[in-house]
Amino acid sequence: MHAELNHRSISEHDNKKAGQIIASCVHCGFCLPTCPTYQLSGDELDSPRGRIYLIKSALENNYHSSKSLKHIDQCLTCRSCETTCPSGVEYGQLLEIGREIMESKRSKLQTLYRYTVRKTLSTPILFKPVGYFFRHSKVVSKSIKPKSVKSTVLLMGGCVQPTLAPNINHSIKNILAKLDIEVLEASQSECCGALDQHMGVSGDAMKKVKRNIDKWSSQLNDGAEVILSSASGCGVMIKDYPKLFEESDPYFEKAKAISFKTQDIAEFLSSKDLSKLQLSELNVSYHEPCTLQHGQKLSGLVESILTQFGYIKNSIKDSHICCGSAGAYSIFESEISNQLMVNKLENLNVLNPKMIVTSNIGCLLHLQKGSSIPVKHWVELLDV
Ligand code: SF4
Ligand code: SF4
Repeated sequence: MHAELNHRSISEHDNKKAGQIIASCVHCGFCLPTCPTYQLSGDELDSPRGRIYLIKSALENNYHSSKSLKHIDQCLTCRSCETTCPSGVEYGQLLEIGREIMESKRSKLQTLYRYTVRKTLSTPILFKPVGYFFRHSKVVSKSIKPKSVKSTVLLMGGCVQPTLAPNINHSIKNILAKLDIEVLEASQSECCGALDQHMGVSGDAMKKVKRNIDKWSSQLNDGAEVILSSASGCGVMIKDYPKLFEESDPYFEKAKAISFKTQDIAEFLSSKDLSKLQLSELNVSYHEPCTLQHGQKLSGLVESILTQFGYIKNSIKDSHICCGSAGAYSIFESEISNQLMVNKLENLNVLNPKMIVTSNIGCLLHLQKGSSIPVKHWVELLDV
């Protein structure tokens, strides 16, 4: 799909990048059956191929309608299409460029609503008093300190997780203490930038990204082995930081260093001797977030860790399909989001598990809304 682009509201770099991504699509349609929104609506414009056409048209003609915006809004950014695509189309990056140019078609009221939600969710100081009323779980175990310190890691706090589910990072600290690993909190007074970026406000995202890169670079220089993320949605954003900069940008090399040093907690634990740990519950169903399987390409890793403790891997129907959480998507597109949640829970509950576990705070909270059994982060099972 050839595209010569020169859209006035985005940079030359983004025009070039969008042109390359669009050109890499060969219209084969293999991505259609694996797209959750196409599965639900059957409308080509709710598929990856249809959305690529809409973005191409918006970029080439400087024209897009509020109908195009709706189809783009309804995309979950799950990147299931990227996993399926035989041509390696980097759909997620194209989508972000498309979202930025289509923002102009939004009504003032909708813009204000989205701004308020985005600012509240991505600013911990604003979110804390609101989030307290929606708390999912409290800290349930005593803190453990390492007996000796073999290495040090930085642990990302996240913007909503410390308020809504503080037991997740508490459990990680206890698990790592048993492995003689010291945990330092990565300075983070704000979001990793994912929320702004996925909502088409890349200017705000880039300010956060640069501030995070500066803060974490200086903390890494003090000797931390890695930056650990316990929320796969934040992890994929940080790993993708280099894609946000041109190679000539002074931040490009710094972003590469941060990305290289960032690991999901599953990646980190998979290389360690876990014989000192135990699993508190074996009868669980694991939901693998899109950000872990399609974004970070770490499919199967959590379950391979759990099997070391006697967990038997279940084959979950449609495990590649999004649960409908998708960041702020569940707030703005609640109908599709709830349908996907119902479908996901039905598949996860087939074998009557006692608990559902996952790797991302957004999926956890979303699934818990419809689940009669507890939904937890899988690391919480290892804090016993
Ligand atoms: S699978 Fe890839 S190349 Fe084929 S239509 Fe979808 S995005 Fe384009
Ligand atoms: S990111 Fe997900 S919802 Fe969006 S087009 Fe791709 S598969 Fe469909």
